[in-house]
Amino acid sequence: MPTSDMNYLAPLANESIFSWVVRYHLTCSVGHEKNTYQALFQQPKIRLHPYLPHSIGYLAGHGGLTAQHWLIQHTLYPLFQFFGHDAEQKLLSVMLHGTGNPVITANIPHARLNFSAGHRVCPLCLSEHRQITGTPMFDIRHQIPGLVVCPIHHCLLVVLASGDAGLDRRLTFHHAAMTPQVYRVEHQMSTDFAQFCWDTLALIKNEPCDLALLHTHYRHQLMHKGFMTRSGQIRMAMLVRAISEYYQDMVFDLESSFEFGERFLGPLIRDKTRTLNHPFKHLILGFWLFDHDHRGFLGQESPFQLMPAFNAPVVVNDDRERILSLLSEDLSMSQIETMTGRSRCYIRRIAELEGIKHATNANAFSHRQRHWVLLLAYLGRHRHDIARSVGVGVGYVEQLISNTPGLVLWRQQLCAMRKHQASVIELLDARQSHPDWRRKELKAHHSRAFFHLYHHDRDCLEAILPPALKPLKQSKNWAVEDERLVLAITELDGAASMSLTVLAAKVRDKGHLIKRLDKLPLTKALLVKLGVK
Ligand SMILES: [Zn+2]
Repeated sequence: MPTSDMNYLAPLANESIFSWVVRYHLTCSVGHEKNTYQALFQQPKIRLHPYLPHSIGYLAGHGGLTAQHWLIQHTLYPLFQFFGHDAEQKLLSVMLHGTGNPVITANIPHARLNFSAGHRVCPLCLSEHRQITGTPMFDIRHQIPGLVVCPIHHCLLVVLASGDAGLDRRLTFHHAAMTPQVYRVEHQMSTDFAQFCWDTLALIKNEPCDLALLHTHYRHQLMHKGFMTRSGQIRMAMLVRAISEYYQDMVFDLESSFEFGERFLGPLIRDKTRTLNHPFKHLILGFWLFDHDHRGFLGQESPFQLMPAFNAPVVVNDDRERILSLLSEDLSMSQIETMTGRSRCYIRRIAELEGIKHATNANAFSHRQRHWVLLLAYLGRHRHDIARSVGVGVGYVEQLISNTPGLVLWRQQLCAMRKHQASVIELLDARQSHPDWRRKELKAHHSRAFFHLYHHDRDCLEAILPPALKPLKQSKNWAVEDERLVLAITELDGAASMSLTVLAAKVRDKGHLIKRLDKLPLTKALLVKLGVK
């Protein structure tokens, strides 16, 4: 739509579309509000949602901006888009062309979050702006659902109601809810949360939506914080406790209290669910999970990546080669120790693993004792047992085991075999002494053995367990249902004058009166007597 120079009014940074339309009405338009709506949106009436307005396509050209620019810079479309609410660009199309309701397209009712509806305003931002430019302005960032405080002024936001009697149809900055009173918010975390939301909005403005990637960032950080097991299971009870405690004295702009239970967290972080979640839920989780660092949503420089452990290259045996060459030059242990700064224990270990002969400590224990220790170690005996029976220290046994190539691995395999065997014997014993037990009882009474085999040797477990039983189908007790229906129909006033459908609904028959009457002889007789059937 061409605009004359006189009507050229550029929006301010972060100004909401409603705010710009009001300023346009006050400065460039003539007469009734209807004229402004007609000039801007080519319709006499339109409701402008505080953060998801529609028919934005008509604004293309105004203020020198494209429709896309209006959408990204002056609405909360980017926030909903980033968190997955614009599948197939439906929200985009509705907001540009006004072919539906953006609030419904963005799944807001589905989230069941009762935010107070209206335009949110910081009274101090508003008056500062009036002093500088002459007219007030509403900031789109204050409209982020759930915010209660202005991060600049640390004061409570005022909600100016929209709706029929509210601001929607009146193009003005004045509202009964505007009071000169300003309430300061002392709760630092609320202010930090507001700042976090602002930063997040700025960060994700031009980012594409990738829920799978976002999910990966969440899980990485959960793993880092210790809320996931190594096998990828979420420690849900721990997580719910931690996040509830964290937010216990936080107040959100919600009419009902917010539960941080599994229903909130599950769909956000579980692998299998692909439920859409309101941006507010992501913001709450992210604020806690990323330790107030909004960059975590993009996986950039979030605290876990800055940790040295993640970035440092893994240094393994970097001076191993050097020590080996020094050893081959026949230098003494203490010389090598001085040159490399490595302990003598470490140097000796490298020498022994490589089969290089050395004289250090050679006389501490006899050759016979050494041989005996190794033999017992190969048999898988416990370190303490070996030390006691040979009469040497545990330290010597441990050193000898770790310095003998392959022995550690062998002992680990022995240990695994022993556990496996013990589990098999335990379960076989249990089957023999309780032949009537089903799988369920075996699992309950011998869970350690059961799960060892479950995780390491499923076939072996299947061979031991009794055959799986088919789940029992609960058979319906028709006699009881028959009696209940007869009683319910008898107690009903004026049953004889009702149609069968009405009567069925009144006694909550679950469809039985029409489909399964053959199973209900007493009821059938009663219906015939009443003349309904
Ligand atoms: Zn402010």
